[in-house]
Amino acid sequence: MDVSQILDPLNDAQREAVAAAPGNQLVLAGAGSGKTRVLVHRIAWLMQVEGASPYSIMAVTFTNKAAREMRARIEELLGVNTFGMWVGTFHGLAHRLLKAHWQEAKLPQNFQILDSDDQLRLIKRVQADLGLDDKKWSPRETQWWIGAQKDEGLRPQYINAGADPWLQTMVRIYFAYEEACQRGGLVDFGELLLRAHELWLNNDSILAHYRRRFPFILVDEFQDTNTIQYAWLRLLAGEQCHISAVGDDDQSIYGWRGAKIENIQHFSADLREVQTVRLEQNYRSTSTILNAANAVIANNSGRLGKELWTKGEEGEPIAVYAAYNEQDEARFIVERINDWVRDGNRRDSIAILYRSNAQSRVLEEGLLREQVPYRIYGGQRFYDRLEIKNALSYLRLISNRDDDTAFERVVNTPTRGIGARTVEMVRSYAREQGCSLWQAAKLMLQQRVLAARAGNALQIFLDLINQLAANAEDEALEAIAEDVIETSGLLEFHGKEKGEKGQTRVENLKELVSACRAFSGVDMPKGEEDEEEIPLLNQFLDSAALDAGEGQADEFEDAVQLMTLHSAKGLEFPLVFMAGVEENLFPHKMSAQEPGRIEEERRLCYVGITRAMRKLYMTYAENRRLFGSETYNSPSRFIAEIPANMVHEVRLKTEISRPLYQANYGKVGKFSDPAPDFDDLPTLALGGRVEHARFGEGTVIEFEGTGPRMRVLVNFDDVGDKRLVLAMAKLEPL
Ligand code: ATP
Ligand code: MG
Repeated sequence: MDVSQILDPLNDAQREAVAAAPGNQLVLAGAGSGKTRVLVHRIAWLMQVEGASPYSIMAVTFTNKAAREMRARIEELLGVNTFGMWVGTFHGLAHRLLKAHWQEAKLPQNFQILDSDDQLRLIKRVQADLGLDDKKWSPRETQWWIGAQKDEGLRPQYINAGADPWLQTMVRIYFAYEEACQRGGLVDFGELLLRAHELWLNNDSILAHYRRRFPFILVDEFQDTNTIQYAWLRLLAGEQCHISAVGDDDQSIYGWRGAKIENIQHFSADLREVQTVRLEQNYRSTSTILNAANAVIANNSGRLGKELWTKGEEGEPIAVYAAYNEQDEARFIVERINDWVRDGNRRDSIAILYRSNAQSRVLEEGLLREQVPYRIYGGQRFYDRLEIKNALSYLRLISNRDDDTAFERVVNTPTRGIGARTVEMVRSYAREQGCSLWQAAKLMLQQRVLAARAGNALQIFLDLINQLAANAEDEALEAIAEDVIETSGLLEFHGKEKGEKGQTRVENLKELVSACRAFSGVDMPKGEEDEEEIPLLNQFLDSAALDAGEGQADEFEDAVQLMTLHSAKGLEFPLVFMAGVEENLFPHKMSAQEPGRIEEERRLCYVGITRAMRKLYMTYAENRRLFGSETYNSPSRFIAEIPANMVHEVRLKTEISRPLYQANYGKVGKFSDPAPDFDDLPTLALGGRVEHARFGEGTVIEFEGTGPRMRVLVNFDDVGDKRLVLAMAKLEPL
């Protein structure tokens, strides 16, 4: 048997882990040391050498994309298909399980996944039904609290609120929320895990079946499993199974969402005979990048402790740029990107990482201005866009009339004369009867309790949904989608929105049809015989809800990748920008007071730095407008933690001088403007202070264009941003 293709691309420590006899394993190692590679090769080894069938293997990955890559890699190594293998995220796997056993899980067959937006709406409604004021009982806080309980595996009946009135109310909401979800056949993300766990806990024969089926379980990014995920794994593993877990305590960054680093320690204590493997050679980064990461993370206490070295070249120092505001930061990054691409590199070798989603807007604008294609990974997901959610709501109603969230969303979208009052009446009727909004609407129409106009409008809506459902019978998925966006009137409705927005929305709706077409064409890995045939429409809706923005439409275009530091985990890029590396933003100001949370922020910084293979930039802005207000932050403490000899402070030639202006002048041939009198032109610097006769004092933010059309963007203290033609503005440097 030739196993060289499995073992050759590995070092000794990696080989030891891959070729070990079946048993429990914990691979504990720093970033870029080949943990994920070990996991993939281990699967190949189990199949090739231990004769494991793909059906006997379950692998848990951090993203759906990682799952696809893992399959592809194994198929490449072994030249076999991996259809029977279960590979996916915890959520994806739990979902698959619940679909296969919906009856035992006490769910309707066509249950829907509730994403966090819809969940928030539902919580708002539940709280309103309980007569709780939103201002006093923040729905977001409730959402967070319920999620935290589910992560810990706690149902409301097990929470002892004692005499605590706040807790009592929370438990009351939790009960009501559960009831609303159950009624609508809705399952939120936390519920997927909790219910999958309960399914096994309460059904011995199902558990026994899966224990027999999966003697091999492999888990990537193990340091970020939470209580319920760990309990689920343990339950499945039983006594006789073999778990390989790989992780890095220094990359545990989801503590705020219930992840428990301690699971790493529990693992060795809870399971018998765990082989622990440490990998110490990093294959990803230059030695400068690696040493910088090591220096930063050394400031954390209580680490399990790891050595990490590389044979890689020293590489360039880490470039730190002090932008004077967020616009300048974006401009700087885009310029570096253009240089990099001009040097012959692909755009998808570049990632811009940031701490908060809100930072992406200015960066996006910068990229758009320079027409640099980019993709946001895990941000505003395609399926989260307003128009798409509207269309999906119609599809969901076709599949399940009792889906209240979908009903609320589109009952009057496009507007069809169903007012807020009518909807409120339907709601309270549903509440009284304990039924779904759809059922309530139907009953109210039968009993003619609504005024004629409102009644008519509501009837039209119900007829429309029934009609769409009838059309959908035996139709191809894309035809259903096409019919829905046309017949519902959504296409026309969004098309009428002003300007570019309407245009974009129409394009997105059409893109949804393409997405449906693509989805139908995909060979879905077939499960085993006991899994029921799930209608394609439902499969599509589920995958839309589970997709983390990874499969966006332009997936194949060569584009710069934008993402939060959190979603960059496990990935690598030759060129990385970390933007907004400043106090209050990173570390986040919410974490500043608690030492434990500062350490989690530092781990996040470690994750960020170690994504870079060849070159890393860190930027911060001295003055930043974010979340609608202006802040003056100092550079992040994390920058100071990098030894000075590894850092290069970038200074730009920011002066736009007269010679430059003159040099560029001749190139703008199409302008017939007379050449201005150069002698009158002031020398201005980016970030410099200037005075204007009418607008007063301000700061130079940006130069645009060349020659006589060269314009300058000035942020005036009193009147805000103004774009002025440099040659005309008569700005006085201060
Ligand atoms: P992270 O902690 O960021 O998830 P990781 O430990 O999972 O990192 P991998 O992503 O598996 O590390 O590997 C990092 C890089 O090093 C990848 O490009 C991988 O292909 C490469 N690599 C890993 N092991 C070897 C090896 N033995 N020889 C050559 N390249 C390797
Ligand atoms: Mg990895």
